[in-house]
Amino acid sequence: MRLSQMLFVTLREDPTEAEIPSHKLLLRAGYIRRVASGVYAYLPLMWRVLQKVSQVVREEMNATGALECLLPQLQPAELWQESGRWNTYTQAEGIMFALTDRQDRELGLGPTHEEVITSIARDLIRSYRQLPLHLYQIQSKFRDEIRPRFGLMRGREFIMKDGYSFHADESSLKQTYAAMDLAYRNMFTRCGLAFRAVDADSGAIGGSGSQEFMVLAEAGEDEVLYTEDGNYSANVEKAVAQPPAAEPSPFTTYEKRATPGTETIAKMSEFLQCSATQIVKNVLYEAVYDNGMAVLVLVSLRGDQEVNEVKLQNELAKLAGQYGGTTLLALKVPDAEAQSKWATKPLPLGYIAPDLSDDYIQATKTLTPKFLRLVDQTAIDLKDFATGANESGYHVVGANWHTHFPLPQVVDIRKAKVGDRALHDASQTLQSARGIEVGHIFQLGNKYSKAMGATYTNEQGEEVPLVMGCYGVGVSRLAQSAVEQSYDKDGIIWPVAIAPYQAIVVIPDVKNAEQVQAAETIYTDLTQAGVETLLDDRDERAGVKFKDADLIGIPYRIVTGRSLQQGKVEVVIRATHVAQDLALADVVPTLKQWIAQALSGSAAA
Ligand code: ATP
Ligand code: MG
Repeated sequence: MRLSQMLFVTLREDPTEAEIPSHKLLLRAGYIRRVASGVYAYLPLMWRVLQKVSQVVREEMNATGALECLLPQLQPAELWQESGRWNTYTQAEGIMFALTDRQDRELGLGPTHEEVITSIARDLIRSYRQLPLHLYQIQSKFRDEIRPRFGLMRGREFIMKDGYSFHADESSLKQTYAAMDLAYRNMFTRCGLAFRAVDADSGAIGGSGSQEFMVLAEAGEDEVLYTEDGNYSANVEKAVAQPPAAEPSPFTTYEKRATPGTETIAKMSEFLQCSATQIVKNVLYEAVYDNGMAVLVLVSLRGDQEVNEVKLQNELAKLAGQYGGTTLLALKVPDAEAQSKWATKPLPLGYIAPDLSDDYIQATKTLTPKFLRLVDQTAIDLKDFATGANESGYHVVGANWHTHFPLPQVVDIRKAKVGDRALHDASQTLQSARGIEVGHIFQLGNKYSKAMGATYTNEQGEEVPLVMGCYGVGVSRLAQSAVEQSYDKDGIIWPVAIAPYQAIVVIPDVKNAEQVQAAETIYTDLTQAGVETLLDDRDERAGVKFKDADLIGIPYRIVTGRSLQQGKVEVVIRATHVAQDLALADVVPTLKQWIAQALSGSAAA
């Protein structure tokens, strides 16, 4: 392709809308244009990258026997009502764009496709003989993300590969899940990414086991906790570990102490001369269920620990039935204004005990009259601990569960953190890294098939729900994360496998016929040899062309400059800036060899 004929516009300055390097570079280099918040146009160079990524994904999926299809983006509300996710997706997570058509029917723009695929499986899968089956598609998804940002990293319209598998039993699901684990590793390796597979929270998609694939980069929105021995890694949302052991308590008798001005754990531990590990802190939340019912939640945990709100949400979602709901709509920390709506008198904030009286709650039709009391595992082994006295300016010390406070419902809701001891080996401590989630694979089980009545007849002639798995790759996010992992001060350094073009032939001076002639020949020869090549034939200064070639990140640059006199051209490797002169006849074979080598190797070239 000739640059002079492409819509090729690069920007010298960093666009103000972009915060992270990959976003700035893709905008500057003319790969993408923002059309609305979280909505981008993929310009021709970007589209080539996306198609290359898609092709790698497709090849690896096809190799496992999965079949490509294309499902509708416009989805009827009924299907989502059947699975019970219409409310969660249009209200709680609020992530689905919903609309009403001219016949007054409600529809959603697909954020994911479990419902659609399950309805198809329900109609078409009858017998175990048709199983297992795995269908996938590569398509734009729509999600009304609350904070779209970082360009393609978190868009409201983005490209995803999503696959759904159907099985007769768990062991068949596990086989496909393992095959997907491998296929994903192959895809990301082929795309030149440094990544890590981690245990993950299954979120609103549901199901049991799930694993995410994280591209390691500082700009990543996710935190990954892992051990050096390579035996454990998890998204912090999911991570489990043992916190440092609690220090022995300095308190021997149970008593109430005046502790003025000690609303925080730090002040309290200083005042009482005890470690935060000997304090039970009590944190207030408000949970709202889909039937409109609200519940005040009092979470007790060790003073040095934090609540993992994802784990808390999961626990609260499990309790929905207890409050007449089916799903959790929202989890909030009630601020002063929210408290004033239900508190019968001012709360002893900073001095709350696990047994804070239910009398504080002014119950209504939509507010449960009792606190839901939960205690994190880390707090239940404490002896002679300090905690609030339910009175401003006072704490109690030397307290014990059962003796002084009834033990609330025990749950795991602490946030694992750096320095924690690993469960598999206490000598291993957790380390932290930032990651960009590019893929997520789930063992769904029968959550959707049961809800939507998707059954098959097994070998015994019984009709049972299908067992399902689902597998996503963020194609557009992956493409940008490759840039986030591979750039320098001059621009993008594409891994060869997903570069929009493999080579760029630059004519330093288009008025020099010899240079033009040589470049045209090389361009034609490379193209004919199957090397995807750009020709910079623009009437621009050589310096501008070199800068642009670096910026757009094409792996190999060929310059028909001074060395033509010796029958040679200069060839520059983008990643290293290493330049060498090659005889004209050697250009095609050398590049073909380099490219073949880069495509067969694992790392970014
Ligand atoms: P996240 O936690 O980042 O919001 P998710 O858990 O909601 O992601 P999935 O529903 O598992 O994501 O979607 C599959 C893949 O699609 C993700 O692994 C990610 O790579 C990609 N993806 C999800 N949301 C977005 C988005 N808003 N923009 C771009 N890619 C996305
Ligand atoms: Mg999401």
